[in-house]
Amino acid sequence: MKCKRCGELAAVKLPSHHAGFCPSCFEGFFKKQVETAVRRHGMIGRDEKVLVAVSGGKDSLALMRVLTDLGHVVEGLHVHLGIPDSSDPVAERTKAFCAANGLTLHVLHTAEHGLAVPDVKDAVRRPVCAVCGKIKRHYFNRFAYENGFAALATGHNLDDETARLFANVLRWDPAYLGTQGPTLPGEGKFVRKIKPLYRLTEFETAAYCFLKGIDHWKAACPYSGGASFTGHKKLIADLEDRSPGQKTAFYEAFLAQGRPHFAGASRGEGQDTLYACAQCGFPSSGEVCGVCRVREQVATHKARREAV
Ligand code: SF4
Ligand code: ZN
Repeated sequence: MKCKRCGELAAVKLPSHHAGFCPSCFEGFFKKQVETAVRRHGMIGRDEKVLVAVSGGKDSLALMRVLTDLGHVVEGLHVHLGIPDSSDPVAERTKAFCAANGLTLHVLHTAEHGLAVPDVKDAVRRPVCAVCGKIKRHYFNRFAYENGFAALATGHNLDDETARLFANVLRWDPAYLGTQGPTLPGEGKFVRKIKPLYRLTEFETAAYCFLKGIDHWKAACPYSGGASFTGHKKLIADLEDRSPGQKTAFYEAFLAQGRPHFAGASRGEGQDTLYACAQCGFPSSGEVCGVCRVREQVATHKARREAV
């Protein structure tokens, strides 16, 4: 197969675009998809500073690289969760990538905030991933807000977004359907959330990393019980195999025709009003936010353990 743009031998075949690209033209295609996403969804204004949530995986490193190459002012934040045999090597790999590429990276240790994830796992009764996700979202937003970033960018790709949409449609969850999208506007202490990779598939970000020599972290977190939405992703991948382009069509049609019907949908009784958390001051649906409550639980659990 020949490259659609220059006629050289294609290195990446994309059935959904009826095209193949050589390495250089694939990079051009990749950047164009991000540029289109940013422009269409008003993600980044002129001279605005963007914080990238950097896990160390392929999507977040690709995102950091491509936004920088497109001329945006970007810094990264890596949240170190204190998980044995995992958090240290991930953080080291992420730091090495940023240093080699001249990118600014901040590292925040949740242990310094009384929230090392192994302690959280011991202290709470809920599945650790639900709580860990809440902690990461809190600190990414808080860091962005307190350090004057206009937007927080995450590496969600088209596979993540279609799988989430499919799950929300299966439940006909109006509040989630009303807010799911590539840009969530900022409000008060919530900074704008953006997903510049939403037009690119997992395969495409993996190919980009491979061709650019981006050495990302591949091992799963030891606490992971399997990636979320795995089953949904398999179903959608099957549809895509049979009919290339389905993923993009499903998601773009939702944005154009589905989402407007759910705009402003309520989260349920008592869930829509936000207060300032009495401890950290960030938005909360109760007097104390979920993250500060978990911190209290961890402290209580530790104190009990030490007392016996
Ligand atoms: Fe946190 Fe779960 Fe992800 Fe591990 S797999 S980093 S515990 S959300
Ligand atoms: Zn709080």
